Amino acid sequence: MFDLKSLKTLASGLAASLCSLLLAHPSLSAEPKTENVILLMTDGLRWQEVFSGAEESLISEEAGGVKDVENLRAKFWRDTPAARREALLPFIWGTIGRQGQILGNREKGSYGQVTNGMHFSYPGYNETLTGFADPAIDSNDKIPNKNVTVFEWLNRQDGLHGKVAAFGVWDCFPYIFNRDRCGFYINAGFEPVPGEDKNPRIAAINELKANTNPVLGAEPQDSFAIYSAVEYLKDHKPRVFFLSLNETDSWGHAGRYDLYLNAAHKADAGIKLLWETLQSIPQYRDKTSIVLTVDHGRGDAPVDWKSHGQKVPKSEFIWLAAIGPDTAPLGERANCDPFTQSQVAATVAALLGKDYAGAVPQAAKPIADLLPASK
Ligand SMILES: [Zn+2]
Repeated sequence: MFDLKSLKTLASGLAASLCSLLLAHPSLSAEPKTENVILLMTDGLRWQEVFSGAEESLISEEAGGVKDVENLRAKFWRDTPAARREALLPFIWGTIGRQGQILGNREKGSYGQVTNGMHFSYPGYNETLTGFADPAIDSNDKIPNKNVTVFEWLNRQDGLHGKVAAFGVWDCFPYIFNRDRCGFYINAGFEPVPGEDKNPRIAAINELKANTNPVLGAEPQDSFAIYSAVEYLKDHKPRVFFLSLNETDSWGHAGRYDLYLNAAHKADAGIKLLWETLQSIPQYRDKTSIVLTVDHGRGDAPVDWKSHGQKVPKSEFIWLAAIGPDTAPLGERANCDPFTQSQVAATVAALLGKDYAGAVPQAAKPIADLLPASK
């Protein structure tokens, strides 16, 4: 039997060993509540629009290729950056900005960037999805990725096998994820979505996809991927899911600021639809984290905003948003730790309680501020 003194000694000894255990394993300090993770990407959407909304000098025929200046101003121009960004991205600011976190506003001391040195898509998606930059990936050519993505890694983990899927508008995703090796479902470009015999909405989407004029080349408009993804989620209920939209990049390259802003606005609405769909399904409701980011930035007005790459200054700058049961509702972050694109992969895994950075030494550590037990 213990006397009071030895009970106290035992208690303080236990507390000390618990403390050292927690310090040694920060991930154990709070079990994540997240059971499902969705990684969303809006290709080449600039941090400038995310944090300040429409840029006035680009709402013009000359610099922005805008067809109806008055209409675009009415839609997206407001007197303050806060009002402009809410007009452009009402879900991101109205919901994620209040219940989650948004990082990367360089004007407020929150810095995010890619480390791959290329500042274009395949290197950016590789860095995002594997957790490290690979200098051997120096083009957007359709070459099967030698690297294993965090999605492939998660698909090999207990409880997650067969519960991973990826949808991308860009037809390069089967190569980025390495379709022949990765072991999970990928839908890209104009490919039909499986399950049309059971789900009439998928049948309708597939019919529209097959009969749509490919004005953007090999990629359909984002709406096809958004609605395909929503139906796939409802039917298959993956626990780890990827969706990348592309129109922000396409219309940026085309020099059409009106369609670029519209694409961002529609992407925001698509993310809202996805979030509301998730919240309506018991498997996902209050147990799902969303991480939203970009593969690269773009340059500044008046010309470089159309482009990105090694020769385009500032196109390495990115932003990131997250919402879910484990991410503290700190809203727009200011004066916080900088983050890199390479931290996204381990963050996605850590939200599910998986130590990707521990298993893959090349991979960067997760973004601690987005995880439980962060201060
Ligand atoms: Zn691009």
